[in-house]
Amino acid sequence: MVSKVLVSACLLGERVRFDGAGKRSAHPVLVRWQEEERVVPVCPEVAGGLPVPRPAAEIRGRLVVARDGGDVTAAFARGAEEALRLAREHGIAVAVLKAKSPSCGSGEIYDGTFTKTLVPGDGRTTELLRAHGIAVFSEHEWDAAAAALEVRSAR
Ligand code: SF4
Repeated sequence: MVSKVLVSACLLGERVRFDGAGKRSAHPVLVRWQEEERVVPVCPEVAGGLPVPRPAAEIRGRLVVARDGGDVTAAFARGAEEALRLAREHGIAVAVLKAKSPSCGSGEIYDGTFTKTLVPGDGRTTELLRAHGIAVFSEHEWDAAAAALEVRSAR
């Protein structure tokens, strides 16, 4: 059985982003994975119960706040749990998630001031997946993700 990979739904072109758009990637690694039927899509924010479109949100300390002032921390936590559940269900060890998102970002996220200021940190889903041993890459790291998948598949 082929090893599956968790991928942010917006990178597959699904129109699930806060602004109602997708962000399709045409990277050859993704195209190959799709042909091999490895890809398990997830949008943690939608899985957590948030609508499309929705106000942009950013992480502020332990909270996740929406641009309209709403506290969406619980929805983000639910979405992260759902992503982890999906990963476990499919035996997934590698994920490629959308950069800079408060759910899917890895390594850098916005600072909670809605001024496009980036700070070091992970999105809530990335954080949870990594805490459970899943290797998370951004859409700027498809080749590294493919290499990690090969290593894990060989185990
Ligand atoms: Fe894409 Fe993740 Fe945001 Fe959903 S939560 S739109 S998958 S970046």
